[in-house]
Amino acid sequence: MEELRAQDARVQWDPFAGEYTIESSPLEIRLRQTGEGLVTLASLRQSGREWIRPAGPAPAALALGSMSAALRPTTSQLFRGDNGELGLRLQGRLGDTPLIGTVTWRAYPSGGVVRVDAVLRNEGSVPWRVVDPPSLWLPLAPPAPARLVTLRGGAFHEDLPPRGYALEITDLGTRARRWEVGPDGRSSAAFLPWFALLDSAGGLTGALLWSGRWHLQLGPADGHSTLTMGLSDLEHELAPGREFSIPAALIGAFVGDLDAAGARLHEWEERYLCPPVPADWPWVQYNHWYAYLGDIDAERLWREARVAAEVGCEVFVIDGGWFAGGRPDSYVAGWGNWVEDRAKFPDGLRAFGERLRELGLRFGLWVEPERVDSRGAVAGSHPNWLAVRDGQVITRTWGGELDAHLCLGVPEVQEWMAQTIIRVVQEYGVDWLKWDYNVGYGVGCDRPDHGHQRGDGAYAYTLGLYRVLEAIRAACPGLVIENCASGGNRVDLGILQYTHTQWLSDYTHRAASCRQHAQGAWYALPPFFLNTWVLDQVNPLELRSRMGGAFGVSARLSEWSAEQRQALARAIAEYKQIRPLVRQRRYVLGSLWHAGWDIWQFADPTSGESAILAFRDGSAVTDVRVPLRGLVADFHYRVVAVDHGSADLYPGAQLLEEGLRISLPVPHTSALIRLEPLRS
Ligand SMILES: [Zn+2]
Repeated sequence: MEELRAQDARVQWDPFAGEYTIESSPLEIRLRQTGEGLVTLASLRQSGREWIRPAGPAPAALALGSMSAALRPTTSQLFRGDNGELGLRLQGRLGDTPLIGTVTWRAYPSGGVVRVDAVLRNEGSVPWRVVDPPSLWLPLAPPAPARLVTLRGGAFHEDLPPRGYALEITDLGTRARRWEVGPDGRSSAAFLPWFALLDSAGGLTGALLWSGRWHLQLGPADGHSTLTMGLSDLEHELAPGREFSIPAALIGAFVGDLDAAGARLHEWEERYLCPPVPADWPWVQYNHWYAYLGDIDAERLWREARVAAEVGCEVFVIDGGWFAGGRPDSYVAGWGNWVEDRAKFPDGLRAFGERLRELGLRFGLWVEPERVDSRGAVAGSHPNWLAVRDGQVITRTWGGELDAHLCLGVPEVQEWMAQTIIRVVQEYGVDWLKWDYNVGYGVGCDRPDHGHQRGDGAYAYTLGLYRVLEAIRAACPGLVIENCASGGNRVDLGILQYTHTQWLSDYTHRAASCRQHAQGAWYALPPFFLNTWVLDQVNPLELRSRMGGAFGVSARLSEWSAEQRQALARAIAEYKQIRPLVRQRRYVLGSLWHAGWDIWQFADPTSGESAILAFRDGSAVTDVRVPLRGLVADFHYRVVAVDHGSADLYPGAQLLEEGLRISLPVPHTSALIRLEPLRS
């Protein structure tokens, strides 16, 4: 018997039972070796409850990197990883193929999360065709009737109830259903590569660490539900002696409801996946986009910066419009230049950034490096860098002008992009980089002379993007990156590894939508990744509706009245007070869907403090009573209604059982309530 342990994690090889165990409590996975030496997925338990049926050795098409890898291991190794995680690595031939699979399972000491990575190597003498290898393959048999939860992405939608980041529930059964990227190929244009399976006692979460084309398939197989998740639209000829990496997948387990699932996943993401963030993260942003679009210059922005500093913003982000060759009416002209426009910034961007820092603001700058002006210098001098499908350059038309999509499957393009953006950051002294991506590659580039293959352009692109972001981060330590993609069209756990916050959606105009965006996206993404902004509305409901994650403003502040500025300054001060709580544990006390009232509780499990944000929209209901969460029954709590300045004392047991009454007599208003524990 071999075994390694660390806190909640354990990996074990029991040669007598022929069983491998990978555990990150409450998740426990068992692999069993059959008489023929094949490894099968035997058990997947959450708090001791079985969620799958034992799977026989899967056919090779499903076995490539999947949970049920029909692997005949010739070597197995238990190891301790660099971040305290425990690992099990199995290597061996896959079924009767010439492929050698190396599957690595990592169990984390806290968070209830196991990560799976798989690499294929062709040891044969002829190429082997790899088609859509799944990263996860779960033959489901839940302990009780369970539901599959999926999450919509952040594409621009004005609908009410909001579509962005809405949860969708599918009953498990024999019905087949497939979720995947939208038609333009961006990873979260339609849904996020994330899911949860749950019943009344908890369940499982899963996610793909991938920012390219993917699929999640719920399919009936022999009368049972099977869930697969992985690449889609991929065909790769694996040459003899070469390797192919399958995107990593996560499986998490939780006890309780979806809030518990989100909290466990965040714990893991913040500790093991996300780049480190500053203690006072996320910074309050000013961004000029919705106020001026690309019609900017130093004088205009400076007027805004002075007010932004006064009201308490912490970073000033110059969005589109700063570069040479751009025109305010164009989304194409000048793309690819990434050189400052001295006509707009006579002293240069670096000097502008230094003046911002004198005001106490960091300097942010927007870029969109993955597309270029089709008539610009980059496309002109490097036509072979452009992504191509069926002989046509991949483009999008913007008001009669054509852009062109670069192909990041080309190593030279990766190098150019990394060096160009590193120069922008270093030369202009950028603290915060906003990375946009307003175009998609569809099923991907199939140009035969790019170094990638006809059938794996999208796959090669994603790896290329990661290399570029990695190079920029290595050359620019301390730089923070805001991921954008038209707002929420490429947000996933893959991009989370390289970026620090996420512009959730370009539809930031309605308070109720912003609340839904932050409320839904929170289940998959850490709170500081949920960036929403207020525009011109400065009543408390509008302002507080953007406090569910990262807070920003995009408006002509210089034209605002003194009262408007004071209202914004008060809201920013309020946000900075509750920001440490927003980063901790969130409970949704109202409906999971926008339903007239939205109520959130943010709680710090260490200090015992909570903040409640309650919103009443058009609902006829004026009073609600909601049981609070995460309190200690034996403590008393000082409950402060911030808008009235009133304070009352309640026993914790009462707040947990009977709840707290929240009254909002006027429609379209909000309340901020703070709770402080009194331990004596
Ligand atoms: Zn290409």
